[in-house]
Amino acid sequence: MKSIAIFCGSALGKDTVYLQVAECVGRCLAQQGITLVYGGGRSGLMGVVADSALQAGGKVIGVIPRVLVDKELAHPNLTALHVVEDMQQRKTKMSELSDGFIAIPGGAGTLEEIFEQWTWAQLGIHLKPCAFLNVDGFYDDLLKFLNTTAEKGFTHPRFMQGLVAENNIEAIVEKFKHFVAPEPKWGMVDKTEFIAALEQ
Ligand code: AMP
Repeated sequence: MKSIAIFCGSALGKDTVYLQVAECVGRCLAQQGITLVYGGGRSGLMGVVADSALQAGGKVIGVIPRVLVDKELAHPNLTALHVVEDMQQRKTKMSELSDGFIAIPGGAGTLEEIFEQWTWAQLGIHLKPCAFLNVDGFYDDLLKFLNTTAEKGFTHPRFMQGLVAENNIEAIVEKFKHFVAPEPKWGMVDKTEFIAALEQ
């Protein structure tokens, strides 16, 4: 596990517990020698997680679309910053650079990003683990609903079993290290073809 993508809010949230967990995530990855891959900005929890990893001596790679460089305040002190043309390129690049994906608290953007990677795993575009860092029960309702989609026959139980949900970052990293990917729905898909189709 050389690198992990963290998807998180571009806001700080209303409770300091979210800021604390973002600090903890950045520090933990740095201490374990895992490169942090993230959205490249300084806004909200994104900035907190990056600063925390850098302060602890970790490597941090940002991937930001050109149009968000000013809006999300592109971080000036990262190990590397990739400025890409659009959101799809951002997600594709982050996916390529990362060995696993974790959503910590955030809003619609955070959910969009983790769900895309989880569905890519189900389709066999990659076999990397996805997780929700369920701090303070933040993701309880969502996880309950995802279980409903499985109970009603829309998500195969093996994909639910393959989805990691823990309330601390150390437990997630530990599970990632021993992760065995569930069999994709229709076998492996040619990634290059899939990405080319996305960008058309
Ligand atoms: P949010 O959780 O809504 O605060 O968003 C967190 C991050 O997700 C921000 O950096 C957004 O730029 C990013 N984001 C929002 N929508 C998308 C999208 N469709 N694709 C990729 N990133 C997105």
